[in-house]
Parts: sequence; C-alpha cells; structure tokens
Amino acid sequence: MAKRQFKAESKRLLEMMINSIYTQKEIFLRELISNASDAMDKIYYKALTDDELVFNKGEYFVKVAADKEKRLLTITDTGIGMTKEDLEKNLGVIAKSGSLAFKTENESKDGHDIIGQFGVGFYSAFMVSDEVTVISKALGSEEAFKWKSKGADGYTIVAAEKDTVGTVITLKIKENTEDEQYDEYLEEHRLKAIIKKYSDFIRYPIKMDIKEQRPKEGSEDELEEFIEEQTVNSMVPIWRKNKNELTTEDYENFYAEKHYGYDKPLKHIHISADGTVVYKAILFIPENTPFDYYTKEYEKGLELYSSGVLIMDKCSDLLPDYFSFVKGMVDSEDLSLNISREMLQHDRQLKLIAKNIKNKIKSQLQSLLKDEREKYEKFYESFGRQLKHGVYSDYGANKDVLQDLLMFYSSREKKLVSLNEYVDRMPEDQKFIYYAAGESIDRIEKLPQTELVLDKGYEILYFTEDIDEFAIKMLMNYKEKEFKSVSSGDLGIESEENENKSEEENENKDLFEAMKSVLSDKVKDVKASKRLKNHPVCLSSEGELSIEMEKILAQMPDNQGVKAEKVLEINVNHEVFQSLKTAYSNDKDKLNLYTNLLYNQALLIEGLSINDPVEFTNDICKIMV
Ligand code: ADP
Repeated sequence: MAKRQFKAESKRLLEMMINSIYTQKEIFLRELISNASDAMDKIYYKALTDDELVFNKGEYFVKVAADKEKRLLTITDTGIGMTKEDLEKNLGVIAKSGSLAFKTENESKDGHDIIGQFGVGFYSAFMVSDEVTVISKALGSEEAFKWKSKGADGYTIVAAEKDTVGTVITLKIKENTEDEQYDEYLEEHRLKAIIKKYSDFIRYPIKMDIKEQRPKEGSEDELEEFIEEQTVNSMVPIWRKNKNELTTEDYENFYAEKHYGYDKPLKHIHISADGTVVYKAILFIPENTPFDYYTKEYEKGLELYSSGVLIMDKCSDLLPDYFSFVKGMVDSEDLSLNISREMLQHDRQLKLIAKNIKNKIKSQLQSLLKDEREKYEKFYESFGRQLKHGVYSDYGANKDVLQDLLMFYSSREKKLVSLNEYVDRMPEDQKFIYYAAGESIDRIEKLPQTELVLDKGYEILYFTEDIDEFAIKMLMNYKEKEFKSVSSGDLGIESEENENKSEEENENKDLFEAMKSVLSDKVKDVKASKRLKNHPVCLSSEGELSIEMEKILAQMPDNQGVKAEKVLEINVNHEVFQSLKTAYSNDKDKLNLYTNLLYNQALLIEGLSINDPVEFTNDICKIMV
C-alpha cells in the first residue's frame, strides 16, 4: 500500500509542531474535542433543514478513554464523520496558507504561541503521540475508512470496519523523555482536569470511565475500586452561568480558549440584558495591542450566537470602530439562526444590542479610569490612539462618547491626565486648555513657546501622537473651554507687560518689516513675541493649521504641500535683539545674516529641517571669525 505524502507546506508545519518546545502540549485534547463537537454540530445543523434527519440530543457525545498498558488514548465522537475524500482533504493538508506565512516570518521567535494562536487543530495530536489513527464513517455512507500516520513522512488510508456513524481517533502516546512526561496523558484524573480546563462548556457530554473507590460491602475500612462513566464537562456555556459562580480565572480561560488574545484581558464585562432586547455577552478589553491592530488586516467584531449556536465568527456591526479592540461574544434568543449577513445589518434587534454594548463598554472604561487608574493607563497605552482616531473620524460625530476617555501627558503631573482633571483644576483666570505639540515629551519640554504659559502657572497638555492635534481640532472644546496651542498667535494671556510690548512692536515696526523682506514668503510675519522669556526666537502659527500638523501632513502619501502660516517671533528683551537693532541701523548685510540665522534656529527648535544646512553652517562661521 503506497504511502501518501502531506502537501509540502503541511509537512514543514507538522515537523515544526512535532519538534516544537510548545509548553502547553495538553491543548491537543481541546483541539480534538472541539473537532468532535463541531462534527456533532454539523448533524444538528443538517437536521434543521433535513426532515429525514432527526437530532436526538442523547445520542451525541464524546468519549475519552485511556489504555495505560498499550499507551493508547482514544477520542470517540458520534459526529458527522468523514468519507475517504474528507479524510484525504481534511487531514492531508495543514493550516491555511495565511497562518503558515505568518509562522514562517516569525520562526525565529520560539514558535509557541503561534501554534496555539492558529489552533492547528488535529495535528496537535502529534505533539504527544508517535502514531495517530482515525477511523471514521460518514453520515449517509455505508463504508468506513482508516487514516493512519506516524507524522511528517505521510499517511495511509484503507477501508475499515465501523458500525456507527462518527469518528474514533486513537493516539499512541509517546514514551516519556527527560524533559517531558507523556504518561500524564494516560492518567484519567489528569485528562479530566484538562477537559475541565479547556472544554467545560462544550455543548455535548464528554464522557470518561473514571476509576473511583468506595467502601467495600461488609467491611468497615476496606475500599474497593469501581469504574463509573462520568460526564466530565458541565456543558453550560460560561455566558449562561451566573456571574457569582465565575472567577476571574474562568473568564481568562475562556479568553484563551477562544483565542481572543495571548495576553490576559485587562477587564471582562459580563452582560445579561433582559430589557427591550434580551441577550448575554462576555466582552473583554485586552491588555496588549494585537500585532496587526493598527493595520488594514485587523478585523473587528464579536462572535454572534443565536440561542447558544454560533452564527457568525466576527460580527462587525456589533462594535463601533473606535471600540474595535474589544473581543468577545454575544448570544441572543431574538436573532434567527438562519439570518443572512445582509439582513443582519438591518436587523433592529442587532442594532439595539450594538447600541447597548457600546454604552456598556464606555461606562466600563470610565469606571476603569476612575477606580483602576493603573489598568486604565495600560489600556490607554495600547488603544488610546484608537479612541483619538474615533474622535477625529466621521467629522467628530462620536466625540461626545469619547471625550471623557481621552488622556494626555501633563506638564504639571508628568503623567497622563484626563481632560476632566485638567479643567477641574484650571485657575479661574485661565480661559483656555493649553497644549503643545511635538515629537516627544522631551522635545516639547524644551519648546520656547511654552515659557509664558508655564510662567503663568498654567498646565500644558503635551501632544506627542500624530492624531492628537487633529482630534482636538475636531473636539474644539471640552466643558466649554477651548483648546489653544502654545504656538498659536494669540495666547489669551493679557498682562501689562504685553501692553508695553505692543508699544515696542510699533517702535520696531521698520526693523521687523526689514526682517520680513529678508525672509520673504518663508514667513507670514515677523513680530515681537509675547510669549518668550529666555529664548531669543520661536515660530508660531496663525490660522487653523499648526506647524505640527504641517509636519504630519507632509508625511502623508497624498500630501498637498499645505503649509502653516508661520510667524517668526523675536524676544525683544533678549540681548540678541540689541544686536539686531544695531545691525539694522548700521549694516544691512549683517541684518540679513542674523535674520537667516534666527529663522533657521527657530526651524530647528520646531523639529523642522533647514532648507540649506550648508549655508546655515557657513553663516555661523561668518559670525565666529
Ligand atoms: P479545523 O478544525 O481548524 O478546521 P483541523 O485540522 O482540526 O482544523 O481539522 C480539519 C478538518 O477535519 C475539520 O475542519 C473537519 O472537517 C475535519 N475533522 C477533524 N476532526 C473531525 C471529526 N472528529 N469528525 C469529523 N470531521 C473532523
């Protein structure tokens, strides 16, 4: 009998899996039991539309049995079974090519979670066994077949005897090695614990013959062993259970089982709604950003069940984009099992559920912010950017939902603060919420533009992410306080000193005009600064577009070359200003030189590049000699 080869890619993956140092080998059982459960579900679905087929719940179960002497573990199910073609097609190829591609790219990492992540299913059996045999009889078929493989070198399929429809999978458990105790997969109590851990809410009974002890009849202290068939799993899905019965660990196990993420969730939300819509949901806020989260590949959505039966894997209509990081499932009796994707979109019930869920997530995030600050900060680090995108997108339509969830780094607190906290402690005379945008906290801290605001004792929010300023422009104000960039023309801080400066401005009008003509259209204006204290020079902007925004837009692929209206501000109290004045009166070339130097310095401070660095350094040399 000729041995058939696995498809090339399958072979590689199989080899990797067999040799993997995957720590949680025990998950093979979960995978095989899930397959069995799926196979029984398939009969259930079929019976929904096929009058000839009756689904008697009592006939469907999984049986797990171990034979220690022969080192055999069998998993039997009464599911839909596989034909010869199915065996060939399903067990001859491993994994979808997509996950394989990912696996290859990440091979250098130790490869553990990648296997777990994609649930390569059936093949995980080879992590604990040298030889796997599958005997299966498909529903509606007269014949049964036996598939057998020792791993990467291929498999055989031959005709076999089997009376009933379903599948029996037999694993020849590996011998113990120095690092690995395979014996445990033949221990009933260990197997039972694994089933409990991973497969507790499988809807079909998972049965095992368990050896128990009881007092021997007619004897006081002697015990006798007896074997009892037990249903190991509790079968009730976790979301149907009472919240009080569940521990955080139960939720975390569910999260892992469902492959929602490889992290531990930061928070779970268990909803049991029976108002206008009746549904149950378990939602999770992950701790870490999934590797593909901020890419096009990431797909948002929740699993959707109708009365305990999964009808959709990723129902995207249940989550707004700004909460796309939420994982979990929804089960509702109000949804029809056979509803189509297109119809679902317009389903009134679904819309109500979605709205309900959105409000729940929002309020849970708010209480996280209020009561578990550290966790919220962790969350914000992972997904804050998404919230800010949410404020910005759809022309600010969702800003009311999101504004209370935003946080920014504060000049005063040296950590993230919410807008509410900022506004709450604003001094009475402060009219605006001040912010400064820049590449990093370090850089912003050194911005000359912040001087006056800080001097006034006002707090400044630091915007370090591209989206920040755009989002805030959309928000416009918070609790009726407008946002104001420290680089904007008018800071709204009046003082006598400033009045005097205005007078000075008139005095120096001609000098500034002269400087402006040196710089021509590079700047919109040159004027005396009202915000500088110690620094000689800075750039500010007029109009809607700030210098930071200009920088960000310039990086976009379709940038239109839009520029901020820049104003060169000079500190008239700085010694340098005297030199400018003298140059203006005596030496026009020198004024040219100084103006260009100051302008280029201002560019550098802003993190903008200088048009002609060679000229700039030459200019510096000129004043040195
Ligand atoms: P997945 O379950 O992710 O599709 P598997 O490698 O675990 O991947 O299984 C491949 C396919 O083999 C399944 O989709 C199913 O069609 C079939 N299969 C596996 N186990 C069984 C089983 N016990 N009964 C019927 N079909 C099965």
